[in-house]
Amino acid sequence: MGLLLSCVALFSLSLAAVLFVPELLPDRTRIQVIEGIDEQPGQDGRLLGHFPYPEALVDQLVPVEAGIELHRDAALSLDAMRRAAAADGVDLRLLSGYRSQELQKSIFFDVKSERNQTAAERAKVSAPPGYSEHSTGYAVDLGDGADPATNLSAAFERTAAFSWLQDHAASYHFTLSFPAVNSQGVSYEPWHWRFEGSADALRRFEPARRLANGG
Ligand SMILES: [Zn+2]
Repeated sequence: MGLLLSCVALFSLSLAAVLFVPELLPDRTRIQVIEGIDEQPGQDGRLLGHFPYPEALVDQLVPVEAGIELHRDAALSLDAMRRAAAADGVDLRLLSGYRSQELQKSIFFDVKSERNQTAAERAKVSAPPGYSEHSTGYAVDLGDGADPATNLSAAFERTAAFSWLQDHAASYHFTLSFPAVNSQGVSYEPWHWRFEGSADALRRFEPARRLANGG
């Protein structure tokens, strides 16, 4: 009888372990290790400062410029924003939009090896694959058609386009992702804006917004 009870107890314990232990470790099961990067994501899912982002679905993307696609909701709002800027004499140029994780992978690793950077150094200026806002189709890199020499550089903050964006981008639901001081520890990117004007976009960027607002 004692033996039988022991067996039942042992069986129950094993069953409990199998059934419940994986659920006690939800964060561990979600950890996504990236080949070529030694660091692992933290408790909040961030890898080297960047939050994880899923890729936009193909049928959500629309072509905006030659070779540049965006999520259709961001594309519509960007179009309205560019027309309003043009009416104010500002030439907003779209330099980059949706990037597949494959493309982000080559950007991250090609430039990293070309410049002999570590993954942590590279992550200051570019997101690791799987961690770029551009993968969502909601992020845009913008330039000033009147001052292309400032494209993708901090000097963009001195352009008419940037000051116009500071005054008007919020009306079109575009937010500066990486201001000069940001909690993610990413370099200042005055050219990089993300669209937060739909329930889906808001949900995607909720963790980043919460961190920016101090938790
Ligand atoms: Zn960008």
